[in-house]
Amino acid sequence: MPYRGLLDRYGSLLNLPAHTRPVTLLEGNTPLIPAENLSRHLGGGFDLFVKFEGLNPTGSFKDRGMTAAVSEALGRGAKTVICASTGNTAASAAAYASRAGLKSIVLIPQGKVAAGKLAGAIAYGAQVVQIDGSFDDALTMVVQISDKHPICLVNSINPYRIEGQKTAAFEICDTLGRAPDWLCLPVGNAGNITAYWAGFKQYDELNATGLPQILGVQAAGAAPLVLGHPVENPETVATAIRIGKPARGEQALEAAEQSKGRIIAVSDDEILSMQALLARLEGIWVEPASAAGLAGLAHEIAAGNFHPAGKRITAICTGHGLKDPDIIIKGMTKPQIVAPNLAALEAVLLV
Ligand SMILES: *Cc1c(COP(=O)(O)O)cnc(C)c1O
Repeated sequence: MPYRGLLDRYGSLLNLPAHTRPVTLLEGNTPLIPAENLSRHLGGGFDLFVKFEGLNPTGSFKDRGMTAAVSEALGRGAKTVICASTGNTAASAAAYASRAGLKSIVLIPQGKVAAGKLAGAIAYGAQVVQIDGSFDDALTMVVQISDKHPICLVNSINPYRIEGQKTAAFEICDTLGRAPDWLCLPVGNAGNITAYWAGFKQYDELNATGLPQILGVQAAGAAPLVLGHPVENPETVATAIRIGKPARGEQALEAAEQSKGRIIAVSDDEILSMQALLARLEGIWVEPASAAGLAGLAHEIAAGNFHPAGKRITAICTGHGLKDPDIIIKGMTKPQIVAPNLAALEAVLLV
């Protein structure tokens, strides 16, 4: 059977109203890639898989939730959708809104959105508004305006976003035949960790696929769930998780506790090192935030807090490296320039 997108494949398991009218870009169905080189590098003796969510249509997992949220909005007769975004939600909302014939408005924190994300939102035709403030300020504003005017909010406060994002847990269980022992993922506004936990619980009830322990990972400069209080001025290179007041923070803590997992913080250096390792050892290039889950795993193994022997571990890599090329370009030495002849090339390559 040809693949027709997430609502077609898993719609019967999602709590969506009858008026929902599917809008799809054939999102989801992303690969679960064995990462043997990285597993060996981290000490070996365990199975490591990377769920590469950067291969969704707009380059991040946000498309899973957006197919559900925009499909519901369209069916309800909405004309406009709005979101606050660190970038990926904006690109996703804009793409699905365009496909549905709706207008999209996105609020982003000024100067803090990676180039590939902003370009996406503009390319897909969103009205982009920069806020002279943080993501958290922008989120407060879109909640207020959507309460007051007939504009549909598609941030992960929207319950249909969570419904759509549960499908990643279903796919992992379908591929592995059961849930992994551990699931590692980055945590920003905490919608995704909430959705994974809901998805694994639902699948376990239906199919006895078991439950993973969840390792949620924040950036040290934006770690409200580790500190136990909001962070006024969150700072990290991992812009997708640069969030100081996670909307679903309570649910994230619940997921960690109920799963007998935990939420930890890692430094920007650990995140960037893991981004490089994953690209160089496995050929998987992800944006910085997307490397946080694996950076957390490496951190826990190195600290002796975690014994992976014999375990089956899945790491969620949430977005594609192409979203944030600047982070690589800023740190690189310029490629050599060589005269256009064989002798010059040999002189450089065969020394
Ligand atoms: C949105 C996003 C996150 C954080 O997900 P939350 O649901 O906000 O916790 C992590 N990585 C990337 C690439 C994202 O786009």
